[in-house]
Amino acid sequence: MAVAGKPRKWEHPTLKLAKPISSEIFPALCDWIFRRQVFKRWSEESVSWQLYCIGEPGAGKTTLAAIIAEHLRQQFQSVGYPVVTLFAEEGIVSNELEFLEDFLHAVYHGLAECPVVGDNPSKEDYQKYTEARFNQNGGLRVNRRLSLIRAALYTLLGSRNKSFRAFLILDGFDLCSETLLLLLETELATLRSMGVRVLQTSRIAIFEQYVTWCDHPKHGKTGDPDEDDEPIAEIDRERLSMYYNCDSCLSVLCLPCKADGRACERDTCETRGPMRERYDYVNITISPPSQPLNDYICWNLEREHGDIGLHSSASKPPLSAFGLSIRNNKNPDLAQDIVSDIESWADGHIGFTKARLDIVNELQSVEEWGRGNQLPANIVSILDGAVRAVEKQNPLKRRLGLQSIAAAGRYDWPDGIPIPLLRQLLKDHSNQEVRSGEDILRAARGLLRSPEGDEIQSADIYSATFYEYVFNGYNERIHEADQELPHGDKEDISDMPEPEEEKARFEPQTITEEPGEITASKLHRSVTTIESSHEIGFSRVVRKGTLAWK
Ligand SMILES: [Zn+2]
Ligand SMILES: [Zn+2]
Repeated sequence: MAVAGKPRKWEHPTLKLAKPISSEIFPALCDWIFRRQVFKRWSEESVSWQLYCIGEPGAGKTTLAAIIAEHLRQQFQSVGYPVVTLFAEEGIVSNELEFLEDFLHAVYHGLAECPVVGDNPSKEDYQKYTEARFNQNGGLRVNRRLSLIRAALYTLLGSRNKSFRAFLILDGFDLCSETLLLLLETELATLRSMGVRVLQTSRIAIFEQYVTWCDHPKHGKTGDPDEDDEPIAEIDRERLSMYYNCDSCLSVLCLPCKADGRACERDTCETRGPMRERYDYVNITISPPSQPLNDYICWNLEREHGDIGLHSSASKPPLSAFGLSIRNNKNPDLAQDIVSDIESWADGHIGFTKARLDIVNELQSVEEWGRGNQLPANIVSILDGAVRAVEKQNPLKRRLGLQSIAAAGRYDWPDGIPIPLLRQLLKDHSNQEVRSGEDILRAARGLLRSPEGDEIQSADIYSATFYEYVFNGYNERIHEADQELPHGDKEDISDMPEPEEEKARFEPQTITEEPGEITASKLHRSVTTIESSHEIGFSRVVRKGTLAWK
């Protein structure tokens, strides 16, 4: 029998507790997120929404998760709020309910072991669970075990006072199946309602946010009567990711207006408030500024190779062979040139930056630098992993994802393939009816993006490195998907018929009609210029109440 209340070891092949933060990590890389209002509100204020940090493969999601956990531990050291970090590793989950059970067990473990929890009234509940789980004569059924571990967890959380906070950081869970993600969301919603702050990293926005802006008639006008500033016109108001809704009429109030003491002022509203944040998720995109990335490269190189003139903050060992060969080179800017090369290859992605640095750190002399045109093996392996996330989906999504990536790879980077054309291509040649561009981006699991502000929405490959990988046929699955699509001259959007007036809008999730009939022979005509979008009629209209997606 288990010792009462002492958490038992749990194990799951794909679920792991956080690894300790490695000395390889340069915390300044992630300072940007701690300065963001959304992070401050999530960690310090009384909010119940979950924070999603969205980053493409190689963007450094795992690094970010580890640094955030460390930051929270330090920030709340004096009060000792528990910080639990869980990583879901790539792998097949054969039993989703058992995964869920181990997930809850891991969360319980993390919370119960935290010193601040002290007196733990859930010991009895937990003992019932461990008896059911580890009983040598065969445990109870999984649904029963789930109820027992939930009971222990809820007793533990329910016994905390109102100011109690716990942080749960999840990384890699976006690779779970959709069924598992939904099961997980239900559990997380309950945990959030009991004071657990949840942050998740993800390749794609699992939940989109509605496009919205402040409805207050005086928005943009300061409360100061001496100022003769005017309210901002509705069309010019900024898009909000955090806001309050009136409980009665759902009118939107921005954070600054709320801070000014404003509330709902809609004439038709009966109660005019109270105002609440009524959403469950806020998404932020991982986008480290370039200076810390540059500092990190310099720091990493000098930490490895000694003082090569980059003036970094690293404690520098004696010069390595590579360091010496830089010092002895005639080009005084060589070290800086190497830094610039790494920066431009990595394209703002922390994961790619690290992979490039790993290669440089193996070199013995600068003569070896820049040799060969092949993608390095460690970068190929990051990208192989990213494509496996596409392959692991159900057969329809898998084909949609792989074919879309292959099709985008035929177009110049970073222009990509216009989404209306891609949809038509998939419909004509694979008989795949794709409802919207959003379906395509989702199926591509973060490997395609649709830059905002483009007049014609396009799907393009998310980074120059991945483009090289697709274009040069590093991946067999993508190559096969490319073979499934017709070969010949590139199709062009200007070959598509002009949609009628009412069909001219292209928005995510709101498409109810397909573009007009088009024949395959027409699609195959080669035209090299893209006409202006006004002539074609596809334009991007941001309308309040639609979903934002990237
Ligand atoms: Zn406002
Ligand atoms: Zn109202």
